[in-house]
Amino acid sequence: MKVSENIQHINENIQRACERSGRRMEDVHVVAVTKYVSIDRAEEAVEAGLLHLGENRDEGLISKWDVLRDKARWHFIGSLQSRKVKNIIDKVSYIHSLDRLSLAKEIHKRADKPVSCFVQVNVSGEGSKHGISPDEVKEFVGSLKDLSNIKVVGLMTMAPQTDDEPFLRSCFRQLKTIQEEVRSLNLPYAPCTELSMGMSNDYVIAIEEGATFIRIGTALVGND
Ligand SMILES: *Cc1c(COP(=O)(O)O)cnc(C)c1O
Repeated sequence: MKVSENIQHINENIQRACERSGRRMEDVHVVAVTKYVSIDRAEEAVEAGLLHLGENRDEGLISKWDVLRDKARWHFIGSLQSRKVKNIIDKVSYIHSLDRLSLAKEIHKRADKPVSCFVQVNVSGEGSKHGISPDEVKEFVGSLKDLSNIKVVGLMTMAPQTDDEPFLRSCFRQLKTIQEEVRSLNLPYAPCTELSMGMSNDYVIAIEEGATFIRIGTALVGND
């Protein structure tokens, strides 16, 4: 399928989800996750109008960035080893996977201006998932206050792989609750207005529950 056809279909779903939940479509940003696909396919996505690209490994991000550069805004969405921060820091607009203080310190040290970060939260409590546990998020955000190159724009979660809609909904709703708690602290370095949640299988539910950045790979650009 052409990316442009996939976008059309996804945009219809986004529009309907926004209508159902009384939200504005322009408040939902699509991050095209290109981690499975070629540089050519990523370029097709950009030409189809997708301006946010997401990668989960430094090599993948760098090889695509080398070709596409400022035609897109780059999102790092995968778990990030501290020693790799220096490879990507001057290329990315957003890091979605801030999950520990040592990583925050490395980002702060390597960046020459504030980086928009999402704190990754492990809402479902699955052992295999990265992320801060829900009851530790506020304390973690507090610990970032002296790191002037960290800007906490929002929270991110990866929901479990399941078709259990009520369960997915409750995960997304919990993330929104924590996001609003952090936002209401009015910390200058942590506006925390954004919610990065929803992937190919669950983005409609995520939008209904308040997602502002959805990260879509398979349904948008494919996975081979
Ligand atoms: C791969 C990935 C996605 C996209 O997954 P799809 O199911 O292919 O849409 C989104 N977020 C993260 C963190 C990922 O690693």
